[in-house]
Amino acid sequence: MDKLNVIIIGGGLSGLSAAVELCARGHKTVVLEQHRYSGGRTYSFIDAATGDSIDNGQHLMMGCYHATRRYMRILGTEYLTLLQPSLRIVFLHPSKRSIHLACPPLPAPLHLLGGLIGFKGVPLKNRLEMLRVAKQLFYTSLSKEQDLDKLNVEEWLVKLGQSNLSRKFLWDVITIGALNNHPKNVSALMLFQVLRAAFLGKREYSSLLLPRAGLSDVLVNPAVEFIRRNGGNVLLGTEVSKVHFEDEKIISVSTREGKEFRAQVFLSAVPWFGLDRILSNSGISSELVIKTPSREICDWDRFKPSSIISLQLWFDRKIMEEEFAALVDTRVQWVFDKSLKFLSPLVSKAVKQQKEKGQHLSLVISGAQEFMEMSKEELLTIALIDLRRVLPKAKNANIVHSVVIKEKRATFSPSPGLEAIRPLPNTSFPNLFLAGDWTATGYPATIEGAVMSGRKAAELVHSKI
Ligand SMILES: Cc1cc2nc3c(=O)[nH]c(=O)nc-3n(C[C@H](O)[C@H](O)[C@H](O)COP(=O)(O)OP(=O)(O)OC[C@H]3O[C@@H](n4cnc5c(N)ncnc54)[C@H](O)[C@@H]3O)c2cc1C
Repeated sequence: MDKLNVIIIGGGLSGLSAAVELCARGHKTVVLEQHRYSGGRTYSFIDAATGDSIDNGQHLMMGCYHATRRYMRILGTEYLTLLQPSLRIVFLHPSKRSIHLACPPLPAPLHLLGGLIGFKGVPLKNRLEMLRVAKQLFYTSLSKEQDLDKLNVEEWLVKLGQSNLSRKFLWDVITIGALNNHPKNVSALMLFQVLRAAFLGKREYSSLLLPRAGLSDVLVNPAVEFIRRNGGNVLLGTEVSKVHFEDEKIISVSTREGKEFRAQVFLSAVPWFGLDRILSNSGISSELVIKTPSREICDWDRFKPSSIISLQLWFDRKIMEEEFAALVDTRVQWVFDKSLKFLSPLVSKAVKQQKEKGQHLSLVISGAQEFMEMSKEELLTIALIDLRRVLPKAKNANIVHSVVIKEKRATFSPSPGLEAIRPLPNTSFPNLFLAGDWTATGYPATIEGAVMSGRKAAELVHSKI
């Protein structure tokens, strides 16, 4: 069977996942990445002041991330993650202190029922109310699923009789965490699909999957090594500005640096605004090229970005016992203990002892549009106020070092109706394919959506020969 020459535009997870699949099948694949690092919105780096590896933002995965887990198995990095035996989340609240949602080790979906019933700290009336949403996951017919895309999450939850308290303590936390925007702004269908993927099937699908090393070590660098070992390449600092076509086929791409790359197949793995730029530079109408499941036009203006702010804080003492927790009634939504787990075994005993006295926490503000203009000092003040409201030991603790990372376009916002216009992997050019978390994956902007889209596009490329 002939092998293809493939160019992939974009070295984020969707591009890397496509390249891994194609290289594994023997296709000569080159990834062109504009930045001097791969990974796109998922990467880690070493903080010069502390020597700790930090991520561009804390990423949580789940047991139902099937494509991602397969990708990590190919790369041999699954051992760098920890899958909870059963879903367990600690919620910290300023007045209630800590509340645990802990699903018992029962087969699914009994584990969910057990978890919700045992969700003490939330009144029984609300726990029973929450079961109504669980019931919907089993009894919503396919035709009604499409109707869910007309509602936002808040409308859907109110329709299912979820009170303010039930929404605040559970559904809003899940929605903002998974869809990176407030329940009023995002499609009920998207939340429904996330909940179904997590709670239907095996118990472990709903367990959280935590990276135990920097994101680049778990998901990025081993992929680049795999691609290079298998006849492909990843070229950094290479920004594609145009595609060129002849006889209704793409023949090459040219870069801002003035190079041209020819190939038989091209795969775009850049976000929508990146593809928009490349197509308009090339004089190609996206309306004519992009295919959508509904056949509606893929209107770029309907894709809106949503922001995430991550705060890495090093404290002079230990202030949190939990490995991670969701915060309720605060502006910070999640906090993770990053101490020691990320410390190189080569670090000296003295440094280790010094670090053991303190604590490195990673805080997340999702759907953070309104915080984006704030200064680092303002954000640190907010973080400290919120931590002191939920963690008594934070009262006298001091921040000794901090890093704040703002990701303006962290994700797209899955607003109601958007599902119909998320692009399919094939286009009207027979040798141009699309991948990326924003394409029609059925998932919100996630690692899973990105990896799955790359694999799907690669399989489509492979099936063409
Ligand atoms: C702070 C933060 C927290 C997140 N938390 C989670 C989480 O907890 N769980 C989860 O599942 N997901 C999370 N996500 C989402 C997840 O990171 C993304 O969905 C995923 O990384 C998207 O991958 P992608 O390949 O589709 O796009 P990208 O990562 O954006 O990759 C596209 C790549 O294309 C490159 N590119 C663009 N234009 C060009 C061009 N013209 N030429 C060459 N290269 C180009 C870009 O530089 C980039 O490297 C989070 C994202 C952020 C930012």
